[in-house]
Amino acid sequence: MAPVVDTLRLTAEEATSLLERGELSGRELRQAYLDAIAERDGELHCFLRTVEDTEGDGVPIALKDVISTKGVETTAGSKILAGYVPVFDATVAERVKAAGLSLLGKTNTDEFAMGSSTENSAYGPSRNPWDPSRVPGGSGGGSSAAVTAGLAPWALGSDTGGSIKQPSALCGNVGLRPTYGTVSRYGVVAFASSLDQIGPVAKTVRDVALLYSIIAGRDPCDSTTAELPETPRLPEGDSLAGVRIGVPRQLGSLDAIEPGVRDAFERALALAEELGAEIGECDLPTSYRYGMPCYYLIAPAEASSNLARYDGVRYGPRAVAGSYQELVDRTRDEGFGAEPKRRIMLGTYALSAGYYEAFYGQAQKVRTLLIREHRQALAVCDVIATPTSPTVAFPIGDKAADPLAMYACDLLTIPSCLAGLPGLSIPNGLSEGLPVGLQLIGPQFGENTLFRVGHALEQAIGFDTVPERLR
Ligand code: GLN
Repeated sequence: MAPVVDTLRLTAEEATSLLERGELSGRELRQAYLDAIAERDGELHCFLRTVEDTEGDGVPIALKDVISTKGVETTAGSKILAGYVPVFDATVAERVKAAGLSLLGKTNTDEFAMGSSTENSAYGPSRNPWDPSRVPGGSGGGSSAAVTAGLAPWALGSDTGGSIKQPSALCGNVGLRPTYGTVSRYGVVAFASSLDQIGPVAKTVRDVALLYSIIAGRDPCDSTTAELPETPRLPEGDSLAGVRIGVPRQLGSLDAIEPGVRDAFERALALAEELGAEIGECDLPTSYRYGMPCYYLIAPAEASSNLARYDGVRYGPRAVAGSYQELVDRTRDEGFGAEPKRRIMLGTYALSAGYYEAFYGQAQKVRTLLIREHRQALAVCDVIATPTSPTVAFPIGDKAADPLAMYACDLLTIPSCLAGLPGLSIPNGLSEGLPVGLQLIGPQFGENTLFRVGHALEQAIGFDTVPERLR
């Protein structure tokens, strides 16, 4: 029997109208995705588990496994949470359910969202649908690859320093890291609380805007959330008249950016100009020089505190031991993989009494500089544009033994995360047959501007999101 819908091409918006017009039932639609998962996920390993959903009969969705789901195992890609079944839903899970969406399953992630390739998942890596010998990016590689491979029309990811935007770039889809404080973190497994944000991944900017409108807004359970000053709008139109796009002058001297990625970026700027945008320079001197070191002090410092709760007593598996201390030691030794251990050590060191001012204190000052320089840049332009990732998807194993090379993947995504700003990655053509991403950074609460600019450019770029080998 021929499939009822082509899940590789169907957008969530189209799926919604199929359901509304009664041309398809929620169950049939869901089954189409489950069939696609059965067909392709053996190779791609996007899902850690699929679930039976008896309540939702709307458009299906996949959730990154850092999002707590009532009655459904939630591991954050870690062995230390194996078998942990939350007794409550994260606010974002509750909101997608309240909107009638049906949960397909939980997607793979680097352990505690620490990584840029999903190779740090304790359950094995996910693979890139464009070339399964390559990484899909990370940490949200499972969600992103699932959307590209037609295993889910849309998904939620989490982004601390690039984990939504970078996988979207590497898999060729659209990902939004929202303004810090617009989406609730209640019930999300914490990595670095001053940076973590939940956001949507989908095939189109309009789908991303739609999903954002479902999850965003103040949540009494998360005191860092804010009332949205503007209702999220679905973008229309293709004009960029009056839009000022700022290109950081520092991009020119960043050797890490591959030539093919640079070419695609230049082409996108030319297209933007044709659509009526004004392209100018902006200045982010601290961002590319100190953004990464700043992030790799602040994020591990917060992680070392957040991960202290995993002691074998409260969650997940417990090691057999003769004393309490031995129980904690052994559980952590067996339960955490190399990357969380590395971050816990880095963070604990940076926070220790003798070094606090020299490392953590300095990093906080740098963060303030980053916030200021982004504010100044966004005073002279409406959005900042850069490539999302300096490279296309790399082969699995290429950077696994070199943490610093892995960290460098986030050179371009990290600075605006530290500044708390929203960032949208849209597909920007191919280099060496692999997707390239374009990153658009907006001011605080500037999501609607990002949607407008992203949508117009998306139409002009005309990228086919279906990987050649699956067409
Ligand atoms: N790759 C970055 C890290 O390992 C960002 C991860 C994320 O955004 N969750 O910290």
